[in-house]
Amino acid sequence: MLVVKKFGGTSVANKERIYNVARRCIEEYQKGNDVVVVLSAMGKMTDELIELAKSVNPNPSKREMDMLFTTGEQTSVALMAMAMAALGVPAISLNAFQVAMHTTSNYGNARLKRIDTERIRHELESRKIVIVTGFQGINKYDDYTTLGRGGSDTTAVALAAALRADKCEIYTDVDGVYTADPRIVKTAKKLDEITYDEMLDLATLGAGVLHNRSVEMAKKYGVQLVVRSSLTSEEGTVVKEDVKVERMLVSGVAVDKSAERISVVGLADKPGTAFRLFDALAKANINVDMILQSVGRDNSKDITFTVDGNCGEEALKVIEDNKTRLNYQHVEIEKNVCKVSVVGAGMMSNPGVAAKMFECLYNEHINIKMISTSEIRVTVLIDVNEAERAANAIHDIFGLAE
Ligand code: ADP
Ligand code: ASP
Ligand code: MG
Repeated sequence: MLVVKKFGGTSVANKERIYNVARRCIEEYQKGNDVVVVLSAMGKMTDELIELAKSVNPNPSKREMDMLFTTGEQTSVALMAMAMAALGVPAISLNAFQVAMHTTSNYGNARLKRIDTERIRHELESRKIVIVTGFQGINKYDDYTTLGRGGSDTTAVALAAALRADKCEIYTDVDGVYTADPRIVKTAKKLDEITYDEMLDLATLGAGVLHNRSVEMAKKYGVQLVVRSSLTSEEGTVVKEDVKVERMLVSGVAVDKSAERISVVGLADKPGTAFRLFDALAKANINVDMILQSVGRDNSKDITFTVDGNCGEEALKVIEDNKTRLNYQHVEIEKNVCKVSVVGAGMMSNPGVAAKMFECLYNEHINIKMISTSEIRVTVLIDVNEAERAANAIHDIFGLAE
């Protein structure tokens, strides 16, 4: 059996934790299985590298940031191989170049295109544990790229798919996927199972327990995922296509504090306006989420949308740089906002979820700034200071704590 095991930053934060992970992997190896381990950078190292970079240059290029980031994962894989060797088990660490993890060229947010499996297979055949750097790739210029924050989960799933692994386990600092972030909602409950679609929505809407692209990829290639704790032997949560249990109306609540809202005021009310605006943003690789367009009057209209927190300023700059082409009066950015969402496949056949959520926010005197929905989710944009209160109240009203 071939098993891919991924461990996040907290799971390899210090020497003791590295040895803990090494022992868990060796246990698997000693059952006669092939073991591929994917690691994140130790503890908060990626955040520290960002701080370090900014102390040298407040606006570092994305290429150099990726070059810097890759040192984080490279440190943890090398130390893990050393720990395993000290425990008497042959292991080898490999980075994105050595494996050859090919990605698209965009730095900071690259997508995996192809993984060469030859080197890994060769090392597994000689009965080594193979330890691979998460989060990083290489592009057509032979430069390092990274997959976006939290991207090591995606490396693990991609490797599991490419190697046709029998199991893909994501080990983290909580013992599974909960009905809400257990750090925000104390009454959150662990789920035994969740569908790819629900998990994808939760992850995209702020449940950082899994990188959303890892879920997208798991669904595409049929990789069954298990999310579990690196510190306990609890069962964890299985992420898969169909779940056995009767669906609750709502399966989870997600909070995304990284959202920012941009309003472009006084645009021309004529065909092509929205196209020009979102085309400019798309060309700059900026992902737009909720979009609201006001009813046109006096031949003018306003368009408001949200972007991921890391690119609000970038979006603003793109819009300002295109002022003549876009032809608007002014543009504003609001940073103190967050998205709170409810997700659940049960919603498809049960009307009234949105109304119930809005009533709950009304009872809490929380103002809704924007709304967006899909078949299986409802998202509202509210003031960031009300995030915790809203998440707890919504979690409660849908009976998720029971
Ligand atoms: P790792 O470093 O292992 O990748 P992350 O910090 O990326 O760990 O993800 C784990 C964290 O995700 C948890 O500590 C928890 O606070 C957060 N989280 C957010 N939403 C959820 C959820 N629905 N279920 C479980 N954890 C969640
Ligand atoms: N180290 C990277 C990050 O902190 C990737 C990961 O942990 O998945 O975002
Ligand atoms: Mg993570």
